[in-house]
Amino acid sequence: MTTLSAIGEFGLIRRFSPPFLKKLPKDLMGIGDDCAVLPWKGRMRLLVTTDMLVEDVHFLRAKIPARDLGYKSLSVSLSDIAAMGGRPESAFLSLALPAEIRVEWLDAFFRGLKDLAAAERVRLLGGDTTKSPDLIIINIAVIGRADRERIKFRSGAKPGDLICVTGELGDSGGGLRLLLKDGPVDKDERYLVRKHNRPRPHLEEGAWLAGQDGITAMMDVSDGIDSDLRRIMERSRCGVVVDLERLPVSAPLRRTAEKRGWNVHEAAAAGGEDYCLLAAVRAERIKKIETGFRKRFCRSLAVIGRVTERTTGLRYFAGRLPIKLGRRGFDHFG
Ligand code: ADP
Ligand code: MG
Repeated sequence: MTTLSAIGEFGLIRRFSPPFLKKLPKDLMGIGDDCAVLPWKGRMRLLVTTDMLVEDVHFLRAKIPARDLGYKSLSVSLSDIAAMGGRPESAFLSLALPAEIRVEWLDAFFRGLKDLAAAERVRLLGGDTTKSPDLIIINIAVIGRADRERIKFRSGAKPGDLICVTGELGDSGGGLRLLLKDGPVDKDERYLVRKHNRPRPHLEEGAWLAGQDGITAMMDVSDGIDSDLRRIMERSRCGVVVDLERLPVSAPLRRTAEKRGWNVHEAAAAGGEDYCLLAAVRAERIKKIETGFRKRFCRSLAVIGRVTERTTGLRYFAGRLPIKLGRRGFDHFG
């Protein structure tokens, strides 16, 4: 007998998906990337993604303001559209709710959802609402669009490519760690908790990168780069080496790690839910893309490592020193 915890979330997906991937038409992409890709009109393609948030697994009701939870619920799905280089268009929201929940809590939840929907011009077009015995479950499916010539997949990274991230790593994981302990006690810690509760989907960054020549693979950072790089490695059949000293870390995380005795490299590599983007870039294009990114976004695109042959797997260095991480990225059943 084997339990789910033995094979993990990704072991399960690998186990059930093959028959559903067989005989798919050439212009249809199913299970395996941040979004499914469906034919639409002309060069345009539909992107579809769905994400679920379960109380006590993805959030603690007492530790996240309802407005932030509404915002975050949409944000995590929009992030998958960003990861393909697309634009989101519409959303469908399914809620399972305990009957005792306060209507004021729900009003605030919808206000948060509306904040982000309005900012990104996403229309809520439907969903489903059911009763739940005691836990809140939120599922949001998002439909987006992209030009087929620009869509970026997890596959496509080649040895020699450089690995980049569009934002600072570990803030959200740090915020979660604080919430699970005594909560934030100062300005730095409140910053981390805010990054955890209200992550911004990198839609502009994704669309910009998708328009650049030389981006060979892209995905969003949802489980921590330690886990997410393995997804790129699996789809691109490659290895990756990461220089931990190059991981972009915010000043609040650096100071908090120092103060609380956290290993800052592990916090950045294994903390999840940053929702920035990971991209592989052809080496000869990197200078141009770095410069363009800085011009467009007024901050740097961080180069954190490079793609290697498959046999080398995922390896970490601090400068030249090989490092073994003490923590792994997130796997639901791992
Ligand atoms: P993401 O974190 O971007 O949402 P995952 O890495 O969790 O994506 O999932 C990998 C792939 O497996 C995705 O293409 C996703 O749609 C698919 N997938 C995950 N769970 C299921 C499921 N229960 N049924 C069908 N496909 C699934
Ligand atoms: Mg994703």
